[in-house]
This record gives sequence, structure tokens and C-alpha cells, in this order.
Amino acid sequence: MSSVTHRVLLTGASGFIGNHVLAELLSAGFSVRAVVRSQVKADKLLQTHLIAGRKLDFCVVADITAHNAFSRAFESQEPFDTVIHTASPFLYRDVTSNEDLLDPAVKGTMSILYGARDHPTVKRVILLSSIAAIIDYSEAAPTNGRMWTSKDWNPVTRDEANRAADYSTVYRASKTFSEKCAWKFMEEQKPHFDLVSLNPPMVYGPLLHSISDISQLNESNLRIWNLFLNASKDSKMPPNGVYWYVDVRDLALAHLRAVTKPEIKNRRVIIAAGSVTSQEIADILRSTIPELAERTPVGKPGEDIFPIDGYSVDTDPATDILGLEFRRKEQTFLQLARQLLEIAKRTENKSKE
Ligand code: NDP
Repeated sequence: MSSVTHRVLLTGASGFIGNHVLAELLSAGFSVRAVVRSQVKADKLLQTHLIAGRKLDFCVVADITAHNAFSRAFESQEPFDTVIHTASPFLYRDVTSNEDLLDPAVKGTMSILYGARDHPTVKRVILLSSIAAIIDYSEAAPTNGRMWTSKDWNPVTRDEANRAADYSTVYRASKTFSEKCAWKFMEEQKPHFDLVSLNPPMVYGPLLHSISDISQLNESNLRIWNLFLNASKDSKMPPNGVYWYVDVRDLALAHLRAVTKPEIKNRRVIIAAGSVTSQEIADILRSTIPELAERTPVGKPGEDIFPIDGYSVDTDPATDILGLEFRRKEQTFLQLARQLLEIAKRTENKSKE
């Protein structure tokens, strides 16, 4: 715990990751203003973080793409020294066009930076980016044992993002463009604060906020539900996809540490626990939770099907600078699975009432 009290402006607090970040900040004794899209979201957050007391207040910003969207959010008697920007669209069911992903990501990031520029007390802006802004996902990309580092950039172009027919390409582009804009802003505006970007791969783990049913799950955990918890033992083992991951609780701690570490100034830091294959996830779940016997793909138990030419990511700065130690994957996937099965059961029971 830091002995210095910080005042943090946190966007995206209502999200899967945002809730965990908020909990970390509050448990360190920091004072936080959470930016949310509606009063309903604020009320819900307050219920989740009951211990917060007067350390938590809210600002409703209905549209982060609006001009000077965050100007009111920055107005505070107790001035902010840190801004953490996590709000960005990552729910494919909520979007109807590529712009729905691209526009709030880029404009939201720019607005928060311009807002911070007008407030001399702000010392650091922490941007929750993604390894989607680092890895080249195109077919031409070099794989063969390649290690991606903070020096790399996803080369996706605006034209490709506009034309893309799948939302995952567009989402990755949204993270790339928003982070690029942020570093360009730093270079051109030379503001009084520094910038840190945290770049996690897939983020999994238990929810802190309550959802009334599985249909409200965030995108990454929904993948686990659909492919591993609500499938069949005979389903084909899903492709590994982005097989680097981090537990949401470790990522939240990374945000907390990023507030206070001077050495992290103006750096991009990959926050990843390690790799995990689909077979490994299935084996972990099937070997420990008997009720998944019929629901989780069997595949070839114990066979590690990590791609021979698989890539890795540079996790050294996360451990060296932020001192992170990552949870074991069993903890992440078992705790998530048990929680989701519980939620599904509750919904089922309610529908029978
Ligand atoms: P969630 O969908 O749970 O949370 C997204 C947050 O952003 C919510 O607070 C949401 O507000 C807000 N938000 C989304 N779209 C908009 C918009 N158009 N305008 C204003 N606010 C918006 O997702 P995660 O918690 O998983 O993601 C949070 C961040 O982490 C995102 O920036 C995402 O790109 C990044 N990330 C996530 C990864 C993952 O695997 N989950 C991996 C790498 C990065 P509301 O509650 O009102 O919808």
C-alpha cells in the first residue's frame, strides 16, 4: 500500500476490468471519481463498492465522443493527480458498425488527454490499451517463435479497419489507433504529465460486479462461457485464438502500481501472465468441476497443442518494474467457471419461479 494518498479520475469503472481497478484503488486508500455513462451505472457501482464511503464519487458522461466530454469530470475540489482511462467499446453485441468501435476509442482517449492538459495537478495518465495494439495479426505477420515487445505496433491501417468485415479486426484497430493518438499527443503537445500504457492480452477471471444473467457478460469471459462452459464434451476443441492471457485481478494490481512507480513514466508495458491453450483450459475445467463433464470439450486431454511456431510477448517490464507475480491459471479459470455456472443456475431457477 502506498503511504501517499492519490486522487484518481477513473473512466470505464462500470466495466469488468474497471470494477477491479476501482476496488484496488479504494483498498489502497485512494480517493476516486468514477466516470460512468448513467446514474443507474453509478448506483450499481456504489452497491458493489460499499466500503468506499466518501472515497468514491461519480461523474456521469453520457457520450465520451462529445467535444470536451470530460471537462466537467475534471472539476473537483480535491484535484486529480492521476487519470486512468479504461472506457472503450469491447462488446461486439452492442455495435452495429465499425465506427461504433473506432470512434469512442479514439475520441474518448483524445478527450481525456485534452482534459488532463487543462489541469496542472495531473501528473500521470494511465491508458488501458491492449496487445492488440502491438501484435501484427495479418496473414503476412512473422510468427515463428517471435517475441512481441513494447517497440512493436499493429500495422493495421484506417482503410483496413473501415473495410473489415469482422469486429475483432476493428476492435484491435480501435486499440491501435487510440494508443497511437495518445503517444502522438504526448509528442506534439508535450504536456506537463506523463503517459503510461498498459497492454494486456486476453483478460479473464471472476467478476466483481453483479450481472443478472450470462447475456450481460463482457466479451472475453463470454468467450470462455461459449466455448468451454456451455458447449459439449464432443465439441471440437476451439482454436487457441489469442493464447496469452492475464487474470483481471493481476491487471488491476498493475494499474495500482502504475500510479506510483516513477520508473514506468512514458512506457508501454505488456501485462501478461503467460500462455494458455484451449486444451489446457478444458483440462483444468474438466479435471476439477464434475458438472462440466458433459459441457466442456474433451479434445485430447494432456496433449499440449501449443502452436510450434507460436509467438510470445515480453513480460519482463511487468515483473521487473511493476513487481507483478501472476496467479496460477487454475485459479483464474476455475474461479471464473464456478461463478458463471452459479449465475446461470440462478437465472434458470428464476425462470422456473
Ligand atoms: P467491458 O465491456 O466490461 O467494459 C468496458 C467499459 O468501457 C465499460 O465501463 C463501458 O461502459 C465503457 N464503454 C464501452 N463503450 C463505451 C462508449 N461507447 N462510451 C463510453 N463508455 C464506453 O470490457 P472490459 O472491462 O473487458 O474492457 C475494458 C477495457 O480493457 C477496454 O478498453 C478494453 O479494450 C480493454 N481490454 C480488455 C481486454 C479483455 O480481454 N477484456 C483485453 C485487453 C484490453 P458501460 O458499462 O456503460 O457499457
